[in-house]
Amino acid sequence: MNIHSKLSDYGFNTLSVHAGAAPDPTTGARATPIYQTTSYVFDDTDHAASLFGLQSFGNIYTRIGNPTQAVLEERVAALEGGTAALAVASGHAAQMLTFQALMMPGDEFIAARQLYGGSVNQFGQAFKSFGWNVKWADARDPESFRRQLSSKTKAIFIESIANPGGIVIDIESIGAVAKEAGVPFIVDNTLATPYLIRPVEWGADIIIHSLTKFLGGHGNSIGGVIVDAGSFDWSRTKKYPMLSEPCPSYHGIKMHETFGDMAFAITCRVLGLRDLGPAISPFNAFLLLTGIETLPLRMQKHCENAKAVAQHLSRHAKVSWVSYANLPNDPCYGLAQTYCPKGAGAVFTFGVRGGYEAGVKLVNNVKLLSHLANVGDTRSLIIHPASTTHRQLSDEQKSAAGAGPEVVRVSIGIEDVSDIIADLDQALAA
Ligand SMILES: *Cc1c(COP(=O)(O)O)cnc(C)c1O
Repeated sequence: MNIHSKLSDYGFNTLSVHAGAAPDPTTGARATPIYQTTSYVFDDTDHAASLFGLQSFGNIYTRIGNPTQAVLEERVAALEGGTAALAVASGHAAQMLTFQALMMPGDEFIAARQLYGGSVNQFGQAFKSFGWNVKWADARDPESFRRQLSSKTKAIFIESIANPGGIVIDIESIGAVAKEAGVPFIVDNTLATPYLIRPVEWGADIIIHSLTKFLGGHGNSIGGVIVDAGSFDWSRTKKYPMLSEPCPSYHGIKMHETFGDMAFAITCRVLGLRDLGPAISPFNAFLLLTGIETLPLRMQKHCENAKAVAQHLSRHAKVSWVSYANLPNDPCYGLAQTYCPKGAGAVFTFGVRGGYEAGVKLVNNVKLLSHLANVGDTRSLIIHPASTTHRQLSDEQKSAAGAGPEVVRVSIGIEDVSDIIADLDQALAA
């Protein structure tokens, strides 16, 4: 399984290529093979019994683990500086399993209001049917998290760089609120990736990702991951019974007592993933792993291009405002210098003069940029939230969500920046 990488003395670029992987012992294959199998032959009944009883680590069935997936897990854990990781079918599955390990019906967690739209739906609607209640706070105001604390609070959740406007969050201050309250601090690091921000260094106990975005990076596979920072003391209270109390499905072992600083990742695997089932396919794990090999190179180019496009748009006559944390007059500029000095990511919003009609016209006239609902692809992407992802909301709700009629969101790719700028210019002129 995903023992913490022995390569951790290596630098980030080296880990992106090598962490978790070794030449295949039987064939010598240098790239990680796609272990496209559902199940694994046991040596004998004793071996099988020890695997099922969690006395030894090994492969049983691909719903619970797979060798291609294991390399992906070890690689992301190494890049994030965590102790262990669990890869699953999607970013949303990572969030579901994370909360399932922490929450009982009637419990609460506090989440920043500034989140990926799908997470707002998942937390506010789907989770409600499990009896898990979200309390919203303002990611720009750490004290607003403290005001939402109660005896039922089980976790605090934020994005490190937040959708949709690419705003940079004061991670350390919000983490301090979680620490004082004695609850785990969960950071969705999807838009930043560990290349730009390592939330472990700012107090995160659990990091989740949609691998679908910049980590995989090529817009070809859905996946998610949970990284255990190994920092939370689950045995200090009885608030997290799945982690601290005897587990009926494994002969009464206590997860934290038995697995120490990897307990959270292991609990999500051997209970959450085993019983709820959102496993990642070995093929997707392979594609995502391949994508991660070039993460540092891609992120450098994404950030460099995004900054140049944001600068260009901020001087454009048809653009009323640009929200990009790496522009010196942006309200997040100071936080960006602290948390992500290498760059503020590649996703940002801007306002077009002429409101709704102008926004629609722009997305209808781009040629190189793709009009779609995703971020973190090698290709440059564009969307007009008011006519798409946020169209069901009232005008007031749209503006509150940062999706007013004039707002356009882009995810800048790694093409030649002059081509991206030329395409936006011709579409704005149309
Ligand atoms: C896409 C996304 C998710 C959800 O991930 P899926 O892989 O689409 O399930 C969660 N958080 C953020 C920040 C995202 O961009």
